[in-house]
Amino acid sequence: MCGIVGYVGKLGDGERAREVVMGGLARLEYRGYDSAGIALVSDDRDRVATAKKAGKLANLSAELEANPLPEGTAAIGHTRWATHGPPTDTNAHPHLALGGRIAIIHNGIIENHAELRTELAATGINFLSDTDTEVAGHLLGSLVASGMSLPDAMRATARRLEGAFTLLAVDATDPQTVVGARRNSPLVVGLGEGENYLGSDVVAFIEHTRTALELKQDEVVTITPDEVIVTDAHSEVVEREPYHVDWDAAAAEKGGFDSFMDKEIHDQPSAVADTLRGRVDERGRLKLDEGIVDEYILKSVDKIIIIACGTAAYAGQVARYAIEHWTRVPVEVELAHEFRYRDPIVSVKTLVVAVSQSGETMDTIMAVRHAQQQGATVIGIVNAQGSTIAREADAVLYTRAGPEIAVASTKAFLAQITAGYLLGIYLAELRGNKFPDEIDALLRELDEIPAKIQRVLDTSEPIREVARSMANEQTVLFLGRHVGFPVAMEGALKLKELAYIHAEGFAAGELKHGPIALVEQDQPVFVVVPSPRGRESLHSKVLSNVQEVRARGARTLVIAEEGDAVAADHAAHVFYVPSAPVLMTPLLSVIPLQIFALELAAAKGYDVDQPRNLAKSVTVE
Ligand code: GLU
Repeated sequence: MCGIVGYVGKLGDGERAREVVMGGLARLEYRGYDSAGIALVSDDRDRVATAKKAGKLANLSAELEANPLPEGTAAIGHTRWATHGPPTDTNAHPHLALGGRIAIIHNGIIENHAELRTELAATGINFLSDTDTEVAGHLLGSLVASGMSLPDAMRATARRLEGAFTLLAVDATDPQTVVGARRNSPLVVGLGEGENYLGSDVVAFIEHTRTALELKQDEVVTITPDEVIVTDAHSEVVEREPYHVDWDAAAAEKGGFDSFMDKEIHDQPSAVADTLRGRVDERGRLKLDEGIVDEYILKSVDKIIIIACGTAAYAGQVARYAIEHWTRVPVEVELAHEFRYRDPIVSVKTLVVAVSQSGETMDTIMAVRHAQQQGATVIGIVNAQGSTIAREADAVLYTRAGPEIAVASTKAFLAQITAGYLLGIYLAELRGNKFPDEIDALLRELDEIPAKIQRVLDTSEPIREVARSMANEQTVLFLGRHVGFPVAMEGALKLKELAYIHAEGFAAGELKHGPIALVEQDQPVFVVVPSPRGRESLHSKVLSNVQEVRARGARTLVIAEEGDAVAADHAAHVFYVPSAPVLMTPLLSVIPLQIFALELAAAKGYDVDQPRNLAKSVTVE
């Protein structure tokens, strides 16, 4: 999610540490821009010097201009994408411990931060920020205070942490060392001449060196100007071969992909995994991120209205099937811009769920305000911390997709569905619709999804190939039934947005009521076929719809579950996704459609990250 840079160089080149770290942060800013901060150490001070500012990196640059930091030999820098605590100066990294002797930066989520915070607070430690990160800082500080070296203390700290983290730390008494550790979050080492680097990815240091070293899970790295020492969790030194980075700087920002959109499609396993991470409290109950809604209110809710626009509204439509099924509360999905103009029936027993990646979608903000005026309780499903919807909603469930740069949403869509499902499970648990073992089973099904998404990505070449061969198509239709219906509409929307091709998504059963008139010889029709193991009627009904369009000359492109040979018989092309329980399948079946739109648009030579006429965050009504 966030960007991390570390640097250590020789004494006597005092400006370089700051320059390298600020340059690296500028290149990493796409990973998060809630705040930025830097810590510098030199050989003549007993405290780390730091500067940090909420907002974009430009704010930190201005701060350094106004109040320059002393020169340093080692430095660490951070651009934040807030997950715990709003994007303020105080919550910005670095965080200090041991009276300012230790500084730490962190990428990721520490799941057991609450327990550790209680434990550390009991020893008299005073916390200054809301972040999970500060806990790791104080843990590290207390271990250093007990006499451990910084690398040993880092290893011991990492052992106590659960969740995902890359941590970098410096110690004012050791001005030529930076120590890093990682688990489930990235960290790479850059090897220089008399200086060494650390970064969330190689883009952090690519202008200085192209020789890099990867860190594996639970490894700790210590860099000094002349040495890089990697150790495993048992303190054993690990020998690792460096590799040459042959990306140019622009490709590096995109993780080696041609576009941010392709990168973000590939981020989807971690977007879903991070959205699921750390949602269960000490009592084994699901929890929301911010704000509190009285459990009594949630128990008495008699209607849920999901309000959203565009892709978020399709995520809402998917979530509706699951929430209704699990909670037996009626759910409506309403386009935010239509909501308040139709005099909607809203009461104190209505729960409104506002879904927006940016949290700044003006249509959705206005709908939230309208619902609140009518007495409804509002829960936001939002990707950006501290955004307007996150602030104005009564409670928030954050999606943790990380910054989404490409205008056409992909990973935010999957994260929104995941968050919607978590909310459904939370309500089902609270209202007693499900037994604890059923709740556990649902959470387990969700936990299996990231690995399955990875399999879809790993086997995406056939759909890419077909997309490239279809660059001259004029119209593409998409059909689906049940949860496959919103998936079909999202597939059509992606194609419209990116490839400027006429595309329509229909409920498969609706076809015979009119749209089938559109089908002529060789018309491409995508069909999202449900699992044959699910409700049998669903599978066979959709296959009947496939037959209907084929009989009229359509060329069918079928998304089906692995092993579904019957679906393959009905298809000009079949693209398989791993098997999953019916309600989980949208998290898989939409991915070939995202890739299809991306690849077809790229084949036409269009800019897939910034399609014409669109904006990432629609802040006007
Ligand atoms: N969880 C940490 C925070 O909220 C780090 C977030 C990040 O990866 O930027 O500050």
